[in-house]
Amino acid sequence: MMRLGLIGFPLDHSLSPKIHNAALKAGGLEGSYSLIPVPPHGRRMLEKVLSELRSGEQSGLNVTIPHKMEIIPFLDGLTPVAQAIGAVNTIFCRNQKLIGDNTDAPAFLTDLKRCFSFRDNRPHSALIFGASGAARAVAYSLSLEGWEVNIFSRRMEAADQIAAQIKNTRAFSSFPLPAVLTGLDLVVNATPLGMEPDVDKSPWPEGQPFPDGTAVYDLVYTPRQTRIVREAQSQGLRAVTGLGMLVEQAALAFELWTGELVPRESLFESVSQT
Ligand code: NAP
Repeated sequence: MMRLGLIGFPLDHSLSPKIHNAALKAGGLEGSYSLIPVPPHGRRMLEKVLSELRSGEQSGLNVTIPHKMEIIPFLDGLTPVAQAIGAVNTIFCRNQKLIGDNTDAPAFLTDLKRCFSFRDNRPHSALIFGASGAARAVAYSLSLEGWEVNIFSRRMEAADQIAAQIKNTRAFSSFPLPAVLTGLDLVVNATPLGMEPDVDKSPWPEGQPFPDGTAVYDLVYTPRQTRIVREAQSQGLRAVTGLGMLVEQAALAFELWTGELVPRESLFESVSQT
């Protein structure tokens, strides 16, 4: 009996139970995936859930806002990816040791390649909005693939921190960025701007056209078409929201906990009507 769950706050609109229950069904496994709301600074609750994972009462945990970075001191170790990013979205237990991993980074890259191709051989260039856990995961995965990464954040200090830790990364805090916008291949939204209920928001500056040929990847997936995606598409550009990344990060976490490979189609189906 697999007992899986998600720690975070708030969790009311999470799609993770649907995806993981579909994964359990596809793998023919008995179990459940629960939402475990832990408010910011809920240290006691975090310790309790983690002790259940250590004792085997829980089989695996996901972590989301606001605990992706704060949970690290409670763990016994990190995978190299989580260590490099400094944020955890998946925890598993091996030999009674709690290990934090980050499946957002490989999931982003897999879905990016599924959605877009960047064929020519020159180094590619990306602009990422946001400077928190998700932005770090995206910057790390692009940097590993040889991309030049530009981080744009309203807090220069947060962007600077990423630039100092992840190679090929530069930090910005104000538009316009002529040097960056020339030859830009990819824009990534790693902020909540545009997410329900604030669907009229976008991180892209009002009235500024997107550079020709740029692709747009919005990590937000509610609604399925966000303002930045709609505006990029109306300019004839390729643009997608982040449902594919969400499904892939869940599938990778599920594989870590259960050893079962999951057909992605059945996971997509579980959230296609929502
Ligand atoms: P987070 O920790 O809340 O960070 C959000 C980032 O956005 C921070 O850098 C924050 O800047 C910035 N931000 C927030 N409101 C802003 C505003 N009004 N104007 C400018 N910047 C603003 O969230 P996260 O975990 O990194 O996730 C970011 C987004 O990605 C969320 O919407 C999340 O749902 C999505 N996500 C999707 C997937 C997926 O699988 N598709 C995976 C992970 C995350 P400050 O620090 O200055 O507040």
